Amino acid sequence: MKANRRTDTKPELALRSALHALGYRYRKDFRLDLPARRVRPDIAFTARKVAVFIDGCFWHACPDHGSRPKNNEWYWSPKLARNVERDRAADAALSQAGWTVIRLWEHVPVTEAVALVTAAVGDPRPPRQVATMKPHAGLPALDASGAGRPPREG
Ligand SMILES: [Zn+2]
Repeated sequence: MKANRRTDTKPELALRSALHALGYRYRKDFRLDLPARRVRPDIAFTARKVAVFIDGCFWHACPDHGSRPKNNEWYWSPKLARNVERDRAADAALSQAGWTVIRLWEHVPVTEAVALVTAAVGDPRPPRQVATMKPHAGLPALDASGAGRPPREG
């Protein structure tokens, strides 16, 4: 049963489209083969190594809304506990590999989520390298006397 691995939840879609509208580009549900384990963040900024997870309040045991079901507790509690354990293991594997991890509960308002993600990622697009845009960068400067010019051909 993979209900807890469901992708494209509403809060996730809202966050992704807000980031996209701001000019951010990212990979969704991108599998990372880290040294410690495989991790699949909901949103990954691979160049800047920022991994974002939008955790469902129920499946990931949010302190506000993650109250456990009364029925079948013999089954669900260990299952939820394993989810939380897996989350922590994923966080550790990502940090070890130099990633920044952002975990957002699905109840976090999208504006707040956007603010947290953009603060970690930085500008949507890094400025292009200026040097490559200067046509004559690196050539010796010419002065009025003509010094530095190649000799004229006769
Ligand atoms: Zn919640």
